[in-house]
Amino acid sequence: MLVSAKEMLEKAVAGKYAVGQFNINNLEWTKAILQTAEELRSPVILGVSEGAGKYMCGFSTVAAMVSSMIRELKITVPVALHLDHGTYEGCFKCIDAGFSSIMFDGSHYPIEENVEKTSELVRICREKGMSLEAEVGAIGGEEDGVIGMGECADPDECKKIADLGVTMLAAGIGNIHGKYPANWKGLSFETLAAVQEKTGKMPLVLHGGTGIPADMIRRAISLGVAKINVNTECQLTFAAAVRKYIEAGKDLEGKGFDPRKLLAPGVEAIKATVKEKMELFGSVGKAD
Ligand SMILES: [Zn+2]
Repeated sequence: MLVSAKEMLEKAVAGKYAVGQFNINNLEWTKAILQTAEELRSPVILGVSEGAGKYMCGFSTVAAMVSSMIRELKITVPVALHLDHGTYEGCFKCIDAGFSSIMFDGSHYPIEENVEKTSELVRICREKGMSLEAEVGAIGGEEDGVIGMGECADPDECKKIADLGVTMLAAGIGNIHGKYPANWKGLSFETLAAVQEKTGKMPLVLHGGTGIPADMIRRAISLGVAKINVNTECQLTFAAAVRKYIEAGKDLEGKGFDPRKLLAPGVEAIKATVKEKMELFGSVGKAD
């Protein structure tokens, strides 16, 4: 059964660790992440972007696949199915489709409009027992075709949004999506500490978890980060493993062209990446 991310994140804040959000793209991705979480007894959040939702034939297809997989694989650790960077309209689609968590990315709206739309979603999510993530200060990266260096959120705006009653808050602290450029200045712990001071026990979310050095991740967790999003890293390790299989000519040996064989190295690579992240984030064994 899918659960809201609220309880797992409150536990993470109290226990000073973070729960990973791993984005899914297809059945193989979902299976690899769920099996690793179960094996390591870790709570997990499955992230679905609007693009990935479309690719997988709509949010209700995704919700049905994930729910069935949890049942068939006998997954007993807490699993939240979460919309990543949702538009206002996308949030309503996921609420209808049976997701247990949503992120409303209102960071590009003027703060008043972000407040208004977030308040409406807070009310609905409360009614439905879902968790809601809000964003303040756009998180840079290649997402919109522009490579940003990572904005830093205004701690007062963070407090304003946190006080609306959201479950968790993504604040830009110099983090960006995708691969980090060589001249990246690192996370702004000054901003993070200021945001935490203003928002208290609110679980904070770190986007763009790919390529942030381990010591920075640990420091961020010590300052209240309880959810870390990982997407690009699984894509890179999956692609590298499948490339290696094909370059070694394995698809040409026997029935090596069978998709279940062809994609198997990629699945194993995702499992290894997820395991490494769960160990770094400290969520191993925290499901019980
Ligand atoms: Zn993000």
